[in-house]
Amino acid sequence: MSDKKMQVVFASAEAAPFVKTGGLGDVAGSLPRALVAAGADVIVMVPKYGTIASEYTDRMEHVADFYVSLGWRNEYCGLERLVIDGVTYLFIDNERYFKRDYPYGFFDDGERFAFFSKAVTESLQHLPEGFQCDVLHCNDWHTALAPVFLREFYQGLPLYERVKTVFSIHNIAFQGQYADTILNDILGMAHIPNAARQLRCDERSINYMQGALDYSDAITTVSPSYAWEIQTPEYGEGLDGILRRRSNVLSGILNGIDTDAWNPATDPMIHANYSAADMSGKKACKAALQEELGLEVRDDRPLMVMVTRLTRQKGMDLVTYALDRILSGGVQVAVLGTGDYEEPMRYFANKYPGTCAARITFDNALSHRMYAGADMFLMPSLFEPCGLSQMIAMRYGTLPVVRETGGLRDTVAPYNQFTGEGTGFTFANFNGDEMGDAVFRGARLYWDDHAAWDQLVQNAMAADFSWVRSADEYMNLYHNLHPEIDITKPEPVVAEPEPAEPTAVEAEPAAPAPAPEPAVTEAEPAPKTEQAAEPADDAKAEAPAKAEEPAPKAEPAKKTAAKKTTASKTAAKKPAARKTAATKLTATKAAEKPAAKATATKPAASKAAATKTTAAKATATKTTTKATASKATAAKTTAKKPSTASATKTATKSTATKAAPAKAAATKTTADKPATAAATAPKATSAKTAPKAAAAKTAPAKASTSKAATSSAAKATAKPAAPKTTAAKAATPKAAAQDSSAATPTDKPAPKAKSVSAAKRTTRKR
Ligand code: ADP
Repeated sequence: MSDKKMQVVFASAEAAPFVKTGGLGDVAGSLPRALVAAGADVIVMVPKYGTIASEYTDRMEHVADFYVSLGWRNEYCGLERLVIDGVTYLFIDNERYFKRDYPYGFFDDGERFAFFSKAVTESLQHLPEGFQCDVLHCNDWHTALAPVFLREFYQGLPLYERVKTVFSIHNIAFQGQYADTILNDILGMAHIPNAARQLRCDERSINYMQGALDYSDAITTVSPSYAWEIQTPEYGEGLDGILRRRSNVLSGILNGIDTDAWNPATDPMIHANYSAADMSGKKACKAALQEELGLEVRDDRPLMVMVTRLTRQKGMDLVTYALDRILSGGVQVAVLGTGDYEEPMRYFANKYPGTCAARITFDNALSHRMYAGADMFLMPSLFEPCGLSQMIAMRYGTLPVVRETGGLRDTVAPYNQFTGEGTGFTFANFNGDEMGDAVFRGARLYWDDHAAWDQLVQNAMAADFSWVRSADEYMNLYHNLHPEIDITKPEPVVAEPEPAEPTAVEAEPAAPAPAPEPAVTEAEPAPKTEQAAEPADDAKAEAPAKAEEPAPKAEPAKKTAAKKTTASKTAAKKPAARKTAATKLTATKAAEKPAAKATATKPAASKAAATKTTAAKATATKTTTKATASKATAAKTTAKKPSTASATKTATKSTATKAAPAKAAATKTTADKPATAAATAPKATSAKTAPKAAAAKTAPAKASTSKAATSSAAKATAKPAAPKTTAAKAATPKAAAQDSSAATPTDKPAPKAKSVSAAKRTTRKR
């Protein structure tokens, strides 16, 4: 065992605060710092974009320059150094490639990021004195060629012999796929049969991410569930086969959040600070937010928010489908975001003044106020590699309502009404009715059981989403690649300097719930409305299904202590053994219902289908849902299926078969759809009024709730778990109908959501 520290080069196309377009930027901005705190030496390599603020560029120090060969080219590469918080940043400088207004979206992205990857690899020879790279950690397709170059061009050099490569998938939908002419012209690899073969994804194309999956020593993704999901055709975006083949080196490590920046006890951007120990400030935040957004200022209305890209991935189809039911059922909704569904959101805000608000913009300060002021946070994603928003929401005591997919599944423990455990409300299938049911499970609890609600809020706030946990897991992974390097933290390191959190937010282990509010004495119109409108949503209706839910051992309060043990080598060698509460929970769940998962969802896997068949999907997933009936039961049954792969395949096929007719129905007649369609938009106006495609399309799915459709589809999809589900499901259309009649029909035609681009395996991050 050497005394050498673990020395890691972390390559990413973005890193906050220099450049960030999404979660990757957050991760590259926070994880390296956490790795340094965990005992590693870290150099982060990022392109030196023209958009990096001068406050940073002015402080950069030029440390090296050299030329990088790229096919027949020889390109200049400068290394500019900046050290912040113990992390060394080396910016890769080449103005031709990077001095532009935006990180991605250019015709030559393939060349730009091939250069970046080659430059990163070449740079390992020019690192600061004393830094000898042990692990080259690459992230997403922009850096995917580095492991390929390293093995094909540099392997023989002594310096590179010991370098192990890790590749992290932050979103498998973006892979970097290009015409294979690039293989010779830019990569200079056409003459290397192994490389050409492993990069090629079809007769005419090569795929950068595929290369990384083949060449890297270890592969990670950002949540355990996503690690499993991407091995299925539904989520794998064509790379599932390779991932299954390499599953022995694939693992999922949850992202964390910046618990300093997101801290309700100290957040300067919110109306009043609060902590788990004293929640009074949250009420003030809610009232202030309602006022700011033009919503009715009343505490008897649960306020549910979304802060998100308004895209299909984020479940906006389900949202537009179910909003009438939700809003007319007494729940306030506020959305902050931009994207393909801006018009539908404006439509609902106009239709339900005082109950619905839409802010179509990117506004960080407002997002803080929304996380703080809301009661619930909606995140019904189609797929979600990890997701940060739900973790932020929980930190602010705002209970998430999420679909059980990817990181959402791993971070939100479903409420268990018998034990009081859980940190939010969840649903399994990509289905608007199920989402609505979950929303009203939350709303009912908010209205009917203040003590249970408050306890849930405490649970959520006590969950540990700090980077410390993730960093320890990455350190263990690195240690597995370099067992000779001791990753035990040096003793003198001051034991976990409590991350400057004065209040008891973290330490508050499930404090006794505040005394239940005096039962809703006033007219409590909301609950009533809801009761009328949501006959199937009451707690009793949920009881059977919930009862069978594997009790979420959500012991979020404790965690860090155990985690720290990591340092010990034994633990280090068995990272799996040191999972956090949340991870454990997930792991259990994953083990219990893999097949159900596979069957249930039909994410954006096939691009074409993804763009068009909302209705088809809704129908398909819905029926599957039926099959899943009481989730736990069905899950258990399905879990027994021998091969995940085959199970998934079956599911895919049947889903597809089903999808076709459903879609046909959807596209064919918007107006003549029964149930919800009619409900949403009374009368002849329906076709126009129904909020765009999503809602309209989903309608047939709804209609299909009528027995015939449901059962036939159910047959096609899921064989296990009989289509029993009835209770909640059967009631839904009715409820929806009631909702709609309660809702004031709007005279404004529903705006159309822009069609979602099918650019699945595109090269751009966003
Ligand atoms: P993504 O897939 O977009 O990366 P995440 O949940 O991982 O989703 O992260 C989204 C981050 O972006 C969160 O911090 C969220 O608060 C923030 N965000 C998204 N949309 C907006 C917006 N319109 N205004 C402010 N912040 C936003």
